Amino acid sequence: ARSGFCSSNSVFYSKRRSIPLPPNDSLDITTFISSQAHRGNVAFIDGSTGQQLTYVQLWDAVRSVASSLSDMGIRKGHVVLLLSPNSIFFPVVCLAVMSLGAIITTTNPLNTTREIAKQIADSKPVLAFTTRQLIPKLAGPIPLPIVLINDEIDAPIDNKSIVNTLGKMMAIKKHDGLKSREAIIQDDTATLLYSSGTTGASKGVVSSHRNLIAMVQTVIGRFYSDDNHHQTFLCTVPMFHIYGLVAFATGLLASGSTIVVLSKFEMHDMLLSIQRNRVSYLPLVPPILVALINAADQVKAKYDLSSLRWVLSGGAPLSKEVIEGFLEKYPMVSILQGYGLTESTGVGASTDSLEESRKYGTAGLLSASMEAMIVDPDSGHPLATNKTGELWLKGPTIMKGYFSNAEATASTLDSKGWLRTGDLCYIDEDGFIFVVDRLKELIKYKGYQVPPAELEALLLTHPEIADAAVIPFPDEKVGQYPMAYVVRNAGSSLTESGVMEFVGKQVAPYKRIRRVAFIDSVPKNPSGKILRKDLIQLAASSSSSK
Ligand code: AMP
Repeated sequence: ARSGFCSSNSVFYSKRRSIPLPPNDSLDITTFISSQAHRGNVAFIDGSTGQQLTYVQLWDAVRSVASSLSDMGIRKGHVVLLLSPNSIFFPVVCLAVMSLGAIITTTNPLNTTREIAKQIADSKPVLAFTTRQLIPKLAGPIPLPIVLINDEIDAPIDNKSIVNTLGKMMAIKKHDGLKSREAIIQDDTATLLYSSGTTGASKGVVSSHRNLIAMVQTVIGRFYSDDNHHQTFLCTVPMFHIYGLVAFATGLLASGSTIVVLSKFEMHDMLLSIQRNRVSYLPLVPPILVALINAADQVKAKYDLSSLRWVLSGGAPLSKEVIEGFLEKYPMVSILQGYGLTESTGVGASTDSLEESRKYGTAGLLSASMEAMIVDPDSGHPLATNKTGELWLKGPTIMKGYFSNAEATASTLDSKGWLRTGDLCYIDEDGFIFVVDRLKELIKYKGYQVPPAELEALLLTHPEIADAAVIPFPDEKVGQYPMAYVVRNAGSSLTESGVMEFVGKQVAPYKRIRRVAFIDSVPKNPSGKILRKDLIQLAASSSSSK
């Protein structure tokens, strides 16, 4: 029986109600969502300006932009880069691109020109959508034609890379672009989001239309019962990340939710938007819950949060202290947790009630249609209930692989479709997953990915650095920040701040090294792999002895 308990072959099955997937024939994610939407509702509200897009306007805009893209020569398989903060037009671009069978790749607007150039060299987009402010970030070696997102239709265009504006594309009111498109099957690629996975630098995660359709079904199953379709959500988590993308640019649209969009997280704007728009659901990352606890007295005195029912936390671990601290300060709000990866196209497990969230430390029950194994990292054997090992996941939302990287794909996905998450977990007798630690190298700063390998490679380009290792350092406010252990060349007088400055100038602010220690040599195993756990222990013991 599918009970969530270990079966004889050590596979754990989901206990959640699964909504059947459509037959796996030709269908794209945009058509799938638009065929379900509730046309009377408002889809998006810009939290700063109040500008609205109804569902009718949304689908009209998506079809017009798709037709325009088709006229511009965008075809199935082409990659389109979207470099933008959150906006009510972000989903329009994603949905239009995917409706043609073209592939959307997103990137963090905080990334530097150098970091974005790397992603461009890897993903080979043929077109970029961006805002006027972010154009300089596309000034890398490979020039791209640009569509401007936030300009008025008549604004003067003074840059020869700019080939169109989103405003103009939306205004053509032409819907024939989809007629001539090539057929899309669900296994075709829809998105290419970047993640470092279990090791190394960022890689393109290939997610298909099928992956996204399955995630839409998960979102619908999680938030909506038959008589409970319309909810107002606030979007402050980034839409370029899988968390924001599957919630706000796909999943929640299938059920006709209203989404209030903020371009980025800012405490006052967030609270004011909740009050003004009577927001009931607030998806966040753990550091923002911590900030809300710390500012609770002022927050409650200044803002009316009586509409708020649920805070959803995902992207990084949520501690018992934070859950309890939050519930004590905001007793009218319940907390839900979500666990997932870019590689699982979003939520792989979640809690669906406050009672479930109060099983402290749990990331919840497996999402509908997902299967899990807990695998001993040393022996490779599956383990039983309550035993800790690496979590492997399988199901319809698991990525197809890493883009143009057979080696990384083979070491992450096995031939039967199991994804190695790189997270050390156990599953209890009721089927709840507990994330104990991270086996993989990844550092998460405020929920953002920081791949240590990338910072190590950068450190090694410093003329006075002989070797380096980067590890996560725990911090209550941000989750973790990158700490570097550095081996200096003989005679070097490089300082801690010298190291931090060198890196800080070349990386996005969330990747900055915020702590440095000098050592004589980096501990490595016989094959040259950095023994990160030893360094993590060393950092913990030297900071506690200070
Ligand atoms: P990303 O691909 O950026 O979504 O990062 C995925 C990783 O974030 C996971 O493999 C976990 O290490 C971590 N993570 C995400 N959600 C949670 C959670 N609820 N609890 C603990 N770790 C999490």
